[in-house]
Amino acid sequence: MVNAYVDLHCHSTASDGTFTPAEVVRLAHQNKLTGLALTDHDTINGIAEASAEAARLGIDFIPGIEISAEFPHPGHMHLLGYGVDPESADLKDLTTQLLEGRDNRNPRIIQRLQELNIAITMEEVEAEARGGAPDESGGKKPIGRPHIAAILLRKGYVSSIKQAFDKYLAPGGLAYFDKERITPQRAVELIRLAGGICVLAHPIQLRTENDAQLERVVKDLVDLGLAGIEVIHSDHDAAWIDKCSRLADKYGLVKTGGSDFHGATKKDISLGTARGRRIPRAYFDAVLARHAKTASIV
Ligand code: AMP
Ligand code: ZN
Ligand code: FE
Ligand code: FE
Repeated sequence: MVNAYVDLHCHSTASDGTFTPAEVVRLAHQNKLTGLALTDHDTINGIAEASAEAARLGIDFIPGIEISAEFPHPGHMHLLGYGVDPESADLKDLTTQLLEGRDNRNPRIIQRLQELNIAITMEEVEAEARGGAPDESGGKKPIGRPHIAAILLRKGYVSSIKQAFDKYLAPGGLAYFDKERITPQRAVELIRLAGGICVLAHPIQLRTENDAQLERVVKDLVDLGLAGIEVIHSDHDAAWIDKCSRLADKYGLVKTGGSDFHGATKKDISLGTARGRRIPRAYFDAVLARHAKTASIV
């Protein structure tokens, strides 16, 4: 298919996006995408709904997940899992562990905000994460800082989501607490045990000091079983796309790309577009091919 486009990185209300999984898929359809992967943080609870809507609309769909792994400050290491098996016990272990990390962190943020005389409760944050809907999902929701930021914005404590992070929620902010993470090794291992392939998300966010350090991180992940690297992303300029593309070629990694769409939480990002670039269908097919080749070997 010439001129066909996809998006391999986006979030729904199952984590901290503001569109439901079905709405994200409908938007993909409106934007004429032929393939989509939903990659919510720490959960696959949106996958069944998105997958059903994708089948209805004739969009190819890959179940995905995005995981934050341990990595030295000030960097962030996010790993994407593609083609994970929703029934996998290893995946269940993984998401349970990740949600526990959030459960230990979020009340500390709320308590600190209360100490700063901000009127906010954990119940409000939970309601925000549910989007006001009753909790009928069964599975727990990964509550994230964007949910807290949305409340701070709505109540007028800040004038933007960005300000909520800068002043309170980001490292150095007045109510910042980190969550426990799993090691990159464990993350790669669990994604593979869960039947998926692991891709390094937005390498720019590692904030490595130079290209040599970036390459060492990538090489170490390759040794652990990394299968791909996100080349196109809303944070990547042409130089980063080029850098990641060369690393992919050198280490035999599949190139992936996505917008990191979150809906209203990140207003400047549209589904299917990353800094004005679209993501070629070939990226989607390469993920599928790699998955078909490796997932059965685990
Ligand atoms: P959490 O999962 O609670 O650690 O929060 C991570 C989410 O917060 C991700 O969706 C990030 O994109 C978002 N985020 C992190 N830092 C910022 C920031 N400075 N401004 C806006 N969103 C941010
Ligand atoms: Zn997010
Ligand atoms: Fe990320
Ligand atoms: Fe993301």
